[in-house]
Amino acid sequence: MAKDRDLTAEDIFTLISAYMNEEHVAFVKKAYEAAKKSHEGQFRSSGEAYILHPVQVAGILAELEMDPATVAAGFLHDVVEDTEVSREDIIRDFGEEVALLVDGVTKLEKLKFKSKEEKQAENHRKMFIAMAQDIRVILIKLADRLHNMRTLKHVSPEKQQRVAAETLEIFAPLAHRLGISAIKWELEDIALRYLKPQQYYRIVNMMKQKRVEREDYLDDLMTQIKSEINKMNITADLSGRPKHLYSIYQKMVIQEKEFNEIYDLLAIRVVVSSIKDCYAVLGIIHTLWKPMPGRFKDYIAMPKQNLYQSLHTTVVGPGGDPLEVQIRTAEMHKIAEFGVAAHWAYKEGKSLGGDPGDIDSKLTWFREILEFQNDASDAEEFMESLKFDLFSDMIYVFTPDSDVLELPAGSVPIDFAYRVHSEVGNRTIGAKVNGKMVTLDTELHTGDIIEILTSKQSFGPSRDWVKIAHSSQAKNKIRQFFKKQLREENIVKGRDMIDKEIRSQGFVVKEIFTEENVNRVCEKFSFTSEEDMCAAVGFNGITAEQVVNRLSEKLRKVQVEQDTIDKIVLDMAANRPKQVTESGVLVKGIDNMLIRLSKCCSPVPGDDIVGFITKGRGVSVHRTDCPNVRAEDSESDRIIEVEWAVDQTEERKEFQVDIEVSAFDRQGLLNEVMMVVAETKTTMVAVSGKADRDSIARINMTIKITDINHLYRIVDRIKQVPDIYSVERIIN
Ligand code: MN
Repeated sequence: MAKDRDLTAEDIFTLISAYMNEEHVAFVKKAYEAAKKSHEGQFRSSGEAYILHPVQVAGILAELEMDPATVAAGFLHDVVEDTEVSREDIIRDFGEEVALLVDGVTKLEKLKFKSKEEKQAENHRKMFIAMAQDIRVILIKLADRLHNMRTLKHVSPEKQQRVAAETLEIFAPLAHRLGISAIKWELEDIALRYLKPQQYYRIVNMMKQKRVEREDYLDDLMTQIKSEINKMNITADLSGRPKHLYSIYQKMVIQEKEFNEIYDLLAIRVVVSSIKDCYAVLGIIHTLWKPMPGRFKDYIAMPKQNLYQSLHTTVVGPGGDPLEVQIRTAEMHKIAEFGVAAHWAYKEGKSLGGDPGDIDSKLTWFREILEFQNDASDAEEFMESLKFDLFSDMIYVFTPDSDVLELPAGSVPIDFAYRVHSEVGNRTIGAKVNGKMVTLDTELHTGDIIEILTSKQSFGPSRDWVKIAHSSQAKNKIRQFFKKQLREENIVKGRDMIDKEIRSQGFVVKEIFTEENVNRVCEKFSFTSEEDMCAAVGFNGITAEQVVNRLSEKLRKVQVEQDTIDKIVLDMAANRPKQVTESGVLVKGIDNMLIRLSKCCSPVPGDDIVGFITKGRGVSVHRTDCPNVRAEDSESDRIIEVEWAVDQTEERKEFQVDIEVSAFDRQGLLNEVMMVVAETKTTMVAVSGKADRDSIARINMTIKITDINHLYRIVDRIKQVPDIYSVERIIN
């Protein structure tokens, strides 16, 4: 590429005239005139007229022999962003194809990249490709970046660092992926100059010192090769290959090699006209000098992922120094330099406004290349990765912190939430896309910024989320949640059944539900933990009686062996004074205490509870997770242990709880929610509903329930109503 001097518009017209017909050249000229007119009066930070920049960008594209639409878009790439010209103007004057390309470049301009760790850089590159849609947009963007790098000295030192780092992380790897080494190397070398100036200039100096010596030596070798090749009637183009600074830097820093240990500082490239000639030249080289073992690579039989093809060998040269030789055809050379761009290069006869969306035609060229390939599975894999990258079935979206996450196309906010973390997914109550509230089944698109609203009080996902979620990851995590929740319910239920059974057999829970006894039962029935044991009872895998018989085994033995004193003690324990109050709560060891259930968290049987001795007002009972019982209080002696009275055989007492339902607001929602609550034969004390600007409806209900399982049933039923985000129990 011509980097020593700027191209003029005339230079470019000469360049394109060599490969385009007159009509197309005129089309490109018209684009130049339009760009020049609209950038009139604008200047770059170097002080030069702005038009110089688009001209250089178009020039780079012309050197890649790109089609008329792409070169024209190179001239026009900044006009929509920076001038009065609109997208409609471009459609009118240059057609839909050029407008799409300019539009694509303008969109990419708005993506802000942060310097991130490698995993994030890869996602940023993928997002970039997904966003570009047409590969030519990326080629224009690479040309744009290349010229900006060439003129980087005119901007502030801070911007130099930022742009150089971004180039190394995003743009050079993109150029590499697309096989455009002509652009890749230059981007890397310039970036190195700004990021590691000391190492850069050290390498430059070392290269300079031996330059003349090295060039003479190479000339001598090339003459020898040339004369052997001529004898075989092969036409070949030989050149001493200049080594790129960045790859020397990488070898010195990453592979910790000394400058004189780097073999391919001396390298010769031979370009011939057929594959047969490539192998013939390889034979000649290996006859002239001895090949170094393990250094021969056949990238013709097995092209690299980015389609690079060539034969590489390293031989021991006449002076005993290693010499690298690369042999390839002219066609391969063009692909080595231009990569994917070589495919989109101009072809005579192709009219403007062809079908840029035809994936198959785009892939034909790759298929042709792949026919050379021996390993079929490799080829298939490569096709897959290519399709994946260029015509992605993935989308790339931002977190509010501008991390990029990769999701399957068709994903919705629920997928995003579970991708962030299962806890975030489980606590999701709503989502914003690009700042706007959306329903949880809204399809996401590349470039969207997603914010997930969560609540600690959320009861977890709705069952219909499994149907709404698109990714298998999210579906699995939702299913897991319900499995686990069921298990937790069974643990609570089982423990409850065991306690009841213990009491009904006349024992005291604390005395026989000991770690030692539980361990013995677990061993006996092969449970791995106490929770396992309780869960098994909960889902009736084993009866509470079986467990309690084992738990009380030791105690019963002792009873038989010992005399009546034990019996008296046991009787006392079984008849320990306790007080069942109106509230259904037991306070251990205290008589005549006024007990009331607190209004703030409305505990119901089944909740973990704690008593709190209030001044002159008896004991108030709270849920242990109630924020009104603060951590510092839990130490104080005003806290008292309480438990639910289990054997309330008389009429079941009802408890009031407040719940809040959040949902996407729609007609008939309140009615449906009230219907399902009514179906559970639950008394509703109060209900109110409101909707806010974001279309979130909130329904507040006070209902009467008998115990916590009753509440779970109601919540579960409400969650089955479509468009419900969450159901929460309210603490006032
Ligand atoms: Mn630009």
